[in-house]
This record gives sequence, structure tokens and C-alpha cells, in this order.
Amino acid sequence: MGYNDCMSVLASFPEDFFRLTGKPLKKSIPLRQYSHFKIGGEADFFFEATTEEELVQAVSFSRQQNYPFFIMGGGFNLLFDDAGFRGLIIRNRITGIETSGETEITVASGTSLKSLLEFCLKEERGGLEFLVGIPGTLGGAVFGNAGAFDQDIGAVINQAHLLTPADEIERVDQAFFSFAYRYSSLKKTPHILLGATLESFAKDRGHIESLLQTYLKKREKKHPPWGVACAGSYFKNPQLSSGEKVPAAFLLDNAGVKGMQVGDAEVYSGHANFIINRGKATSKDVKDLASRLKDRVQERFGVELKEEVIFLPAEPASP
Ligand SMILES: Cc1cc2nc3c(=O)[nH]c(=O)nc-3n(C[C@H](O)[C@H](O)[C@H](O)COP(=O)(O)OP(=O)(O)OC[C@H]3O[C@@H](n4cnc5c(N)ncnc54)[C@H](O)[C@@H]3O)c2cc1C
Repeated sequence: MGYNDCMSVLASFPEDFFRLTGKPLKKSIPLRQYSHFKIGGEADFFFEATTEEELVQAVSFSRQQNYPFFIMGGGFNLLFDDAGFRGLIIRNRITGIETSGETEITVASGTSLKSLLEFCLKEERGGLEFLVGIPGTLGGAVFGNAGAFDQDIGAVINQAHLLTPADEIERVDQAFFSFAYRYSSLKKTPHILLGATLESFAKDRGHIESLLQTYLKKREKKHPPWGVACAGSYFKNPQLSSGEKVPAAFLLDNAGVKGMQVGDAEVYSGHANFIINRGKATSKDVKDLASRLKDRVQERFGVELKEEVIFLPAEPASP
């Protein structure tokens, strides 16, 4: 395909998308309104998929047209670029939860973990309480193997169905994901999670409630209050050459980073591994601050911190 052919495909993309799906794309949408960090310029196009069919169509069509796209869930682990995104942002809003048998729950990938836990409480199903307070969707949680209190979601995923890079729907089991600390195979190959079956067992409502309260209280002590703009822990906890895992917050704290800021991006006073946006922070401010924090920890401890927060550059590589 020559340059002119390529440009005409890009120009006709929204009309062709509408012809195929019957759904209009939104244009020039400020991403800051979809990011908990409250940072990010305009995406050229934006689409909210509320059914599996819509999500599959949007992804398959973008791939066929070689048009750049990005799937987001709740936007709780993302740092969007100040320059926005030259392509299509697809926001996953496919929701649905049902019990399957005595020991499993089937969940659509755009369902929030909050709704999942509300469902568990109502249906008296236990085993997922450790997820309380982690914002975002099932899709985002599986992508990054989200977790807390030494447990992560990978351990409770039994089966899942995905959209493959060849646009086929495939059923897989837990082994497919190669779950590790904040890692799943979705980070390596661009499979898109459509839904999953999670392990969960009958449990008395009172016991579920008290465990939820215990976890929430522990979280309140270290996390910024809900309204504070951030994307969760900024860095992963590094593993030392001895094999020991050290909290990034411990290293950052002892490197004296609390109070450091660049523009409106600041290290949270209550927990050194949170970068918060005090109002007008840009992605550049956040990245500059993060880079200084990494340098400090490298200088003091000889340890390289790696980002847990995902930065989406404005000019993506073609899918
Ligand atoms: C206050 C706060 C506290 C937090 N506490 C925790 C914590 O305790 N533990 C923890 O692990 N995290 C924590 N986080 C981070 C965040 O909540 C998790 O990473 C969460 O899983 C992100 O889900 P999301 O739907 O918002 O994903 P997004 O941020 O929207 O996306 C994250 C990544 O997932 C990919 N993705 C999303 N959906 C799909 C899909 N269907 N298929 C394939 N890929 C997909 C996206 O492409 C992107 O690369 C916290 C964040 C905040 C703001």
C-alpha cells in the first residue's frame, strides 16, 4: 500500500467503522477524563464497547485497516500522553457476572472488581476478598495480575476466553497466562480478555464482610484518599540478586524522596511509591519525577526500579 492509499484509509476510518458497526466513533476526546491520574491529551477517536460483539468488531476492524488502537479498562493503571493518542481508544464496558456451579463465577472482562465483590457479598461467595479496594476492571486486573496482601488474581482464574491476535475467539485455562508478580502473558502477545471464570466458594456473609473491612482498613492506612489523582503504585517491588523481594516504597522512602515534585506531580507524603497529580501535572512532569526517583534509588541502593504504571505514547506502533 502506497502513502496516498494509506492516508485515504486513515481518513475514511470513522465512516467505514460506522458502516460496519452502526456505531459512531467519538472524535478528539480528552483522555484525562478517562484516567484516574487526570492526565492526557486528546485521542483522535474513542469508542465504548458495551457488548462482546462490539469489542470484537472494533478490534478486528482496526486490525484489518492497520489502524492503531488501544484497549483500556477503568484507566486506573495508565498514564496517557500529554499529546493524546493518534488512533482509536477502545474502552471496555462489557459487564456481567453469574455463578457457574458451586465453586465458580463467570465474569465479563469490563466488569469492575467492585461490582464483582458486591456480587460475592450478595451471593455469599468467598475467596476474592483480597481484591477489595483495587480499582478497575477484570480485564485490567488479569493483564497485570493485580493483587494485594500476598495474593493475586491469577491464582483464582480457572478458564478464560480471549480474542487472539488473529481475531479468533479462543478458550484457555490458567496456564496460558503464565501469571507471575504483576505479569501475565497478555503483556507479551496482544490477546484481549473477553471473560473469565474465577474460583470462589460458599461463605457466610458475616465472614466475608469482616474480611473486607479488615483489608479496607489496612489499605486506608497507606493509600491516598479516593479523590487523589494517581495510578496506584508507580513502581513494581524489585527482586534483589539474593532473590528477596523488597517493597519499592521502602527503598524510595529511605532514599529520601518524599516531598520531591516536578510541576504538579508529587511523591505522596503517606506512601513513597505513589506519584500524585496535585492538579495540573502533565505526563512529562510525572515521567521526569519518576526518572529522578529511579536515579535516587539506583544511586543509594544500586537497584533498578521498573514502572508498574503503563505509559501510552501518543504515536503508537501499528498493530
Ligand atoms: C488508588 C489505587 C490503588 C491501587 N491499588 C492496587 C493494588 O492494590 N494492587 C494492584 O495490583 N493494583 C492496584 N492499582 C492499579 C490498578 O487498579 C490495577 O492495575 C487495575 O487492575 C487496573 O485495571 P483497569 O481496568 O483500570 O486497567 P487500565 O488501567 O484501563 O489498563 C491497564 C492495562 O490493562 C490492559 N487491559 C485492560 N483491559 C484489557 C482486556 N480486556 N484485555 C487485555 N488487556 C486489557 C490495558 O491495555 C492496559 O495495558 C491501584 C490503582 C489506584 C489508582
